[in-house]
Amino acid sequence: MIIVMSSRATEQDAQHVCDRIKQLGLTPHLSKGTERTIIGVIGDERLIKKEQLSLLPHVESVINILKPYKLASREFRRENTIVDVAGVKIGGNEIVMMAGPCSVESEEQLMSTAQSVKAAGAKLLRGGAYKPRTSPYAFQGLGEDGLKLLARAREKTGMGIVTEVMESAEVDLVADYADMLQVGARNMQNTKLLRSLSKIKKPVLLKRNFSATLNEFLMSAEYLLSGGNDQVVLCERGIRTFVEYTRNTLDLNIVPVVKQLSHLPIIVDPSHGTGRHDLVLPMSRAAIAAGADGLMIEVHPKPAEAFSDGDQSLTPEVFSQLMKEIQAVALAVGRKLG
Ligand code: PEP
Ligand code: MN
Repeated sequence: MIIVMSSRATEQDAQHVCDRIKQLGLTPHLSKGTERTIIGVIGDERLIKKEQLSLLPHVESVINILKPYKLASREFRRENTIVDVAGVKIGGNEIVMMAGPCSVESEEQLMSTAQSVKAAGAKLLRGGAYKPRTSPYAFQGLGEDGLKLLARAREKTGMGIVTEVMESAEVDLVADYADMLQVGARNMQNTKLLRSLSKIKKPVLLKRNFSATLNEFLMSAEYLLSGGNDQVVLCERGIRTFVEYTRNTLDLNIVPVVKQLSHLPIIVDPSHGTGRHDLVLPMSRAAIAAGADGLMIEVHPKPAEAFSDGDQSLTPEVFSQLMKEIQAVALAVGRKLG
């Protein structure tokens, strides 16, 4: 249920409604728009009758949200949410580029990648220190040493850091180093991890699981929002289909659909979405044309020697070329690269 306050309502009026919601045993979530304040009511709505809230001063309307996700829905917040990652704003008119290696491998590999993607115009540096690998024999990441290298790369370049956290017990540690914490596709429905991330004061990048429906994806975002973290960016990274010529099928349909149904920003990862370096540029163009708020791209100084995902990694030169080519698409859809 959401409560729309009238345009004349003061902060005290909204506070009064929030207090009443709490007295009734439910949780209020306030969203201040440019024109109106909306209050989301989370909990067992059978405990209350609409009139208990609709008759309070300056309440304009009380509306039931029929969708299972509430705080992630456009009904709850009409304006686009803008997420601030170390000063870089995701969800506004500017398209934000995140780039870097799949895995943090060494100081030299990370610093050289960071410097080249920054020079090409990327705003955020990605890199995995904890890697969710299919094989237990594959490189699992440098762990905290990798986080330290990422922090050093931030010191040197000034770029904000995006890195994956795989389990609840490591959330505080990763949050000490990262500017944005990534939930990998395999963990999208790890509800304990989502609950832990809902309690921190850092933005979360939530990647879609390869078999997740739209509803499941937004319900995972709802875990973060309902627990108190409203700094959430969604990421489409490809789903499993019958096709065998790409690693995954990049579901670009979801970008405009998420824009209709939710106020949260959505970015696209064409690297994991295709698994092929030769498809990253065309699918980056397509993602921006479809309305993505940013892209996440894997870049490695020597893809053939990468510890993970070399097949889909771009060289710094190709990444720099990509940055030039996608600017034209951004401008064509009334946006620009941030
Ligand atoms: C990654 O971005 O490093 C990654 C492992 O991606 P995904 O979780 O989408 O597979
Ligand atoms: Mn990867």
